Amino acid sequence: MSVNPYPLGLRLAGRRVVVVGGGAVATRRVPALLDAGADVLLVAPELTPALRAHLDAGRLRWTPRRFEPDDLDGAWLVQVAIDDPAAAATVSAAAAERRVFCVRADDRNAATAWTPAVTRHGPVTVAVLGGGDPRRAMTVRDAIRELLEARPAPSGDATAGRGPASVAGGRVALVGAGPGDPELITLKGWRLLTEADVVVADRLVPGLLLDEMRADVELVDASKIPYGPARTQEEINRILVDRARAGASVVRLKGGDPYVFGRGGEELLACAEAGVPVTVVPGVTSSVAAPAAAGIPVTHRGVAHEFTVVSGHVAPDSPDSLVRWDALAALRGTLVILMGLKNLAAIADALLAHGRPADTPAAVVQEGTTTGQRVLRSTLGAVAADVVSADLRPPAVVVLGEVVTTLSPATPT
Ligand code: SAH
Repeated sequence: MSVNPYPLGLRLAGRRVVVVGGGAVATRRVPALLDAGADVLLVAPELTPALRAHLDAGRLRWTPRRFEPDDLDGAWLVQVAIDDPAAAATVSAAAAERRVFCVRADDRNAATAWTPAVTRHGPVTVAVLGGGDPRRAMTVRDAIRELLEARPAPSGDATAGRGPASVAGGRVALVGAGPGDPELITLKGWRLLTEADVVVADRLVPGLLLDEMRADVELVDASKIPYGPARTQEEINRILVDRARAGASVVRLKGGDPYVFGRGGEELLACAEAGVPVTVVPGVTSSVAAPAAAGIPVTHRGVAHEFTVVSGHVAPDSPDSLVRWDALAALRGTLVILMGLKNLAAIADALLAHGRPADTPAAVVQEGTTTGQRVLRSTLGAVAADVVSADLRPPAVVVLGEVVTTLSPATPT
């Protein structure tokens, strides 16, 4: 006869959890235990490479043999991750004798505890037990996850992921939106976006992300703020601070990563100086993702052991330049230039003048990771002219170095 299980959240930090087995099931179970801070002891003659990696990193301990009942001494919980029923029954018996709850991957009817399907939404954990059917548990879990992602957490409530200091007031998150493909935002960034009351978005932010926002969210298009660049930044900072002070959850959504040529630091300082709680959620930067989308790895074993990301928005001969183009020319690794199309001829000349060979492979990736992506392959000597004749436009990254031709054959145009 089955009775209803009694749901619990366990505080496992520092407490011994024994996992019997070192195969695929154990590999899937161990990360959540480590995440909960458990003192994990694996008992198994052999480990998968993933488990061995945890061991090598000092995250767990290992008893390299088959299970013996004494292995459970001092344990609070045991997970049986083997499929030999007789051996599993031995673990169950030893667990019952010691009053230790026992999860059985091989036979849930023989278990005294069950692991639910889980989804986390900020500080909220949803755990679903499927009454013996793990698929049903996952289906229900997925449906709940979709609901949570589609809806904001109740505002002014600690469940919205706000720290105690900011429960009453608003907060700002500087969120990296990724390089263009809307799926390349992080899970955390996406959650904050779905919870936001106000979104201040850049020009380079994937439009599809904004399409999916709730109708009642205030959307501020930062590229439409009608001042010069300096005033515009001040105005953005002011909007962030004002809205947060009025109690709103504000997401400042920025293309790529907020700190890669994104003025994220200035916005962080402005919030911090105004006493507004502010966090940064890193993003996938175009400096790595746009080359990758064009089949170019920024590093490759035996080819390039470095990659340098540099802004080309200031001409090399300008007194405002902070870049040592002469030193960059002396490097042999990968050079990724952002905001470099306008000054590309001058940049190429500077690199050539300081010794980077004219036949260095070059590529230009326009609107990388989007449906509008265009890729031009060339050489350092020819790339500036090729960009003009191909009519490439910003946003684009320029990649220089042998990696350009490593995965795809050289086809200079
Ligand atoms: N913070 C952003 C970069 C902002 S500077 C990031 O981490 O990606 C803006 C420059 O980024 C553009 O001029 C262009 O050089 C580059 N860029 C941004 N998105 C791009 C994309 N999808 N494809 C190619 N280059 C891109």
